[in-house]
Amino acid sequence: MNIFITYDYELFFGQPTGSVENCMIKPTDEIRAIAKRTGVKFVFFIDTGYLKKLDEYKDQFPAVKKEHDLVRTQIEQLVKEGHDCQLHIHPHWEDTQHDGDQWIMKTDRYKLVDFSDADIQRIVRSYRDILFAWTGQKVHSYRAGGWCLQPFDRIESSFKSVGLKIDSTVFPGGIFTAGNYYYNFTKAPDLSKWKFQSELCTPVSDGDFWEYPISSESYSALFFWRLFTLGRLKPSQHKPMGDGYPMPSPGLRKKMLTKGMRLSAGVDGYFVTKMNHVLRRNKQKGFEDTVFIGHPKACTKFALKKLERFIERHKNNHEFKTFSDVLEA
Ligand SMILES: [Zn+2]
Repeated sequence: MNIFITYDYELFFGQPTGSVENCMIKPTDEIRAIAKRTGVKFVFFIDTGYLKKLDEYKDQFPAVKKEHDLVRTQIEQLVKEGHDCQLHIHPHWEDTQHDGDQWIMKTDRYKLVDFSDADIQRIVRSYRDILFAWTGQKVHSYRAGGWCLQPFDRIESSFKSVGLKIDSTVFPGGIFTAGNYYYNFTKAPDLSKWKFQSELCTPVSDGDFWEYPISSESYSALFFWRLFTLGRLKPSQHKPMGDGYPMPSPGLRKKMLTKGMRLSAGVDGYFVTKMNHVLRRNKQKGFEDTVFIGHPKACTKFALKKLERFIERHKNNHEFKTFSDVLEA
């Protein structure tokens, strides 16, 4: 089995967004340390709209200059250490400003498809160029901000024109269409990867793009009760390192605590306790690939410890890979 540990490298998008130190730099340093100790590499999906705004405001505000320099140094370290830095687009950065003190998030246009066709083309191309300028690494893989990449037929030509080859956004069975979100993966095939063309969840044998779906898992209401309670009772182990607030997801918390929910399989916080189960299930299905999602901002001490144990346990029987590895093979 190829195992991909992927992290979306970003701030929070509510108010406040949290500090770059606590949401990104410190947790990512811990993740880098795990990679060094275990010898595996990770995929970092870099929120490139943030890089664009750091460039835009750094000469105007000293606070942004400091943020910019921290992120630049860390991305250089990630590249040097062999991690795969790939494209993550949260297009609402187009509408976001800095007031000298903090980021003023405006998330009305949260999804790429909230923009015009010409804007989608411009955003995908320019963000690809910005990411390349920061990393010097070939940009070939993509994850949509907030899992929002539908309807894909409006984005297909942008993917093609900048040479994107892999998407890792879908988590089969997932659906959420409230607030600024829209994703519906209920029709996704039960495969470890597939080729596609104009519709994300429809396999096309000669499609231009590969979907490497994030594994998904049904988490019970009890699971979420445990997760929220542990954060309060044992904050030193279970409180996320990031210090910001997420963009509102109407009804989400209530649904989690009453019915439970199908979510992407993750390495964040308490979700890490399901990793062995997800891996075992994928193996039983004959899958060749398992993708996990994480966010430095949502890391807990508990999750980092468990992740390292998971890697140590499986690194001799499975291969921890990046998307650059599979494209170069
Ligand atoms: Zn994101």
